[in-house]
Amino acid sequence: MTTTLYMVLPCYNEELVLDETAKRLSVKFDSLLASGQISDSSRICFVNDGSKDATWEKIAALHAAHPERFSGINLSRNRGHQNALLAGLMTVKDVPGVDVTISMDADLQDDIEAIDAMLEKFTSEACDVVYGVRDNRDTDTAFKRGTAGAFYGLMKSLGSESVPNSADFRLMSKRALEGLSEFHEVNLFLRGMVPLVGFKHDIVYYKRGERFAGESKYPLKKMISFAIDGITSMSATPMRYIFWVGLIAFIGAIIAGIIVIINHFVGHTASGWPSLMVLVTAFGGLQLLALGVIGEYIGKIFLEVKNRPRYIIQDFLNK
Ligand code: UDP
Ligand code: MG
Repeated sequence: MTTTLYMVLPCYNEELVLDETAKRLSVKFDSLLASGQISDSSRICFVNDGSKDATWEKIAALHAAHPERFSGINLSRNRGHQNALLAGLMTVKDVPGVDVTISMDADLQDDIEAIDAMLEKFTSEACDVVYGVRDNRDTDTAFKRGTAGAFYGLMKSLGSESVPNSADFRLMSKRALEGLSEFHEVNLFLRGMVPLVGFKHDIVYYKRGERFAGESKYPLKKMISFAIDGITSMSATPMRYIFWVGLIAFIGAIIAGIIVIINHFVGHTASGWPSLMVLVTAFGGLQLLALGVIGEYIGKIFLEVKNRPRYIIQDFLNK
């Protein structure tokens, strides 16, 4: 019995890269078919995340020309990378006969050649999840390398299990996807959620290339908010840190108060204005920071409580 594989690629304004991506993946599919690693019901599924350009038209055209190769999912509007990816995975998991999915970015930054190794771990070693892990960050700017390193370090110290240097290039079996579908959260951080699904897993190293056309949809601002989302949707530890900082500050304030009283009786009444200003502003700042962190969590609770749909599918082209 051969494996039925669905590739899932979220696309937002990717008209410049789609044809090339489709071509290269199709070549890969031909060789996987020839070697009997995948069945002929396998598909390459593009998810259009509410693109403003001709991305969906291109996907629909690919499907029309080669329905035995390409599928397409059209979301009702832009919902962001993580939601688009989840929409794709949850939709294809319910296609009859699907055994396994591999998700990757549409810009070919993830190495197509790693697909064989991923499939191998699924078929021979019975892994339900295989993470693509980049073995170096040569193609990144020093800045992105540094911030990414700091981010994974922070995630780890906060108790989130995400696999360092793995993005969303990942194999997941049908069983693992069923597990993922039990996670109903609205604030999605898939690379933190998938390790929580469990099952046997492994990693495959690959070299992450440069985006070959178009531009990144993750400018600095989005990158920072993705990192904050990642931390606050996976861990409540920052709130505990606030508690400790508050406690230490409180103890410090009591000690300072005692010193002030002693000073008063000993007779050196300090002029004290500068130190007072420093303390007032320091604590004012600290309180705002603490409120900000708590606010971030309340915002997340607000979104979870509303329980709005994570995506709405407009069309699913799959034959
Ligand atoms: N993407 C998406 N919806 C968005 C933003 C991005 O589906 O709102 C897709 C995008 O088309 C690409 C993937 O997410 O396939 C990763 O985006 P990008 O390559 O721009 O990020 P980078 O590699 O620069 O981090
Ligand atoms: Mg990219």
